[in-house]
Amino acid sequence: MQDFFQNYVNGSWIDGGGGRLPVSNPGTGEHLADVALADAADIDRAVAAALACHESGALSDLRPVERSRMVRKMGQFMLDNCAEIAELLCLESGKPYWEAVIEIKGTARYFEYYGNQAETVEGRSIPLGANYLDYTIYEPIGVSAQIIPWNYPIEMTARGIAVALATGNTCVVKTPELDPLSTSWLARAGEAAGLPRGALNILCGYGHEAGAALSGHPDIGNVVFTGSVATGIKVAVAAAQNVVPAILELGGKSAAIVMPDADLDQVMESMRWGIFFNAGQVCSAMSRVIAHPDVHDEIVERAVSLAESLSVGPGIERTTFGANMGAMVSDNQRDRAENLCKQAASEGARIVTGGHRLNQPGSFLAPTIITDVSPDMQIAGTEVFGPVLSVMKADDEAEAITIANSTEFGLVGGIFTSDIDAAHRAARKIKAGQIFVNEWFAGGVETPFGGYGKSGYGREKGREALLNYVQTKNIAYRTR
Ligand code: NAD
Repeated sequence: MQDFFQNYVNGSWIDGGGGRLPVSNPGTGEHLADVALADAADIDRAVAAALACHESGALSDLRPVERSRMVRKMGQFMLDNCAEIAELLCLESGKPYWEAVIEIKGTARYFEYYGNQAETVEGRSIPLGANYLDYTIYEPIGVSAQIIPWNYPIEMTARGIAVALATGNTCVVKTPELDPLSTSWLARAGEAAGLPRGALNILCGYGHEAGAALSGHPDIGNVVFTGSVATGIKVAVAAAQNVVPAILELGGKSAAIVMPDADLDQVMESMRWGIFFNAGQVCSAMSRVIAHPDVHDEIVERAVSLAESLSVGPGIERTTFGANMGAMVSDNQRDRAENLCKQAASEGARIVTGGHRLNQPGSFLAPTIITDVSPDMQIAGTEVFGPVLSVMKADDEAEAITIANSTEFGLVGGIFTSDIDAAHRAARKIKAGQIFVNEWFAGGVETPFGGYGKSGYGREKGREALLNYVQTKNIAYRTR
């Protein structure tokens, strides 16, 4: 494996003005490789390249079908090189190899979906009477700044750049410091697909330097950010200084309500993915279960056996599923999650299983189930971003919905029930951008995704995301 990864600016691989940053394998704690660290001057160069490419029309003036082909080719390239990319992603992020493969396939799906959508962006004509011809067109916004989190470094990048490129924009991507290596494959995908020089620029750098320089850059057309609330606010404020729109996806504390008539097998299947996939480092994780007393004890019992049945480890083996659950991305994230568990216990919650690090090298936290959680406890409202499920009790639907809505977040929510009326009532009353009924993560690339409250604003995925990347222009023409 190469031991140094460069940044990609204006079609060239370059070193960073900020020197080098070591990247380690959270599954073992060992050093993996170094990455070039971009400073503010590198960000300037990248934005200038992206702007020049945009203004040249090399991408924006193409027929949509040509952009569509390029974007879809990027997806095919990712699939063609899936094994190699997944191995690198597994090593730098700590997720098992099989989860990394799912991420690469998800990445390819974004390119496929938005490649296909490129040809659907159409304006309309507006009747203004006999003497006028009035129509709207959608124009690209220019340079899209993408600030990427470490939980899905490749997939989150694809989620943004696939839409941006399909709609004729150019991109500057700031990758996460902890696992930036595999995103270099996206630059190679762009080259293989024939993107014009400067259309896609990918740099790693510290958030406070490269990230801040990018989000506050006067020449960007939008900034798309996924990460913590505190950083999201900084990004939005920096963008606002230049009257640049921001799209923020800031995580959550999402709740699954389980009614007494729920199919508990469906609940358990959803829980396996909902809280233990990617070691719980998922913004839309099922981090709370709000159970009716009739099913509460059985859910806890089954949740504990699920948690204790998962094998936890680095999971690099390709031939088997390796570990069921991998490492957290860093010791810091693991320590933070462990401290939140300790705090929960000190407030009177009961850690039924897990709640502690594993006694082995790497950043592992045992799959954790916490019961007796009440809404006023810290664990009930704070995003753990780890494999930690809080189980709460509610006597009826109304109380369950009140508890579900009792955090500052509102990313997703869900209900498990066989009562169709109860499902739709809850779906309307839960304050969140996406509601799952009888299956967690039931949506897809096709379904709009984004938050209420402090989970952010703007929508990604689906056709809704296209509107983040275009300006509406109206042309009102007076005929003679
Ligand atoms: P973060 O929000 O600080 O980092 C996310 C990205 O923002 C990174 O690329 C980082 O370099 C960049 N960044 C940092 N400071 C910046 C600034 N001033 N201007 C512009 N960009 C900046 O997240 P973190 O510190 O890595 O993780 C902390 C917590 O955030 C986690 O525990 C979790 O709760 C949450 N988180 C949520 C998501 C999500 O998917 N919503 C993803 C990652 C982290």
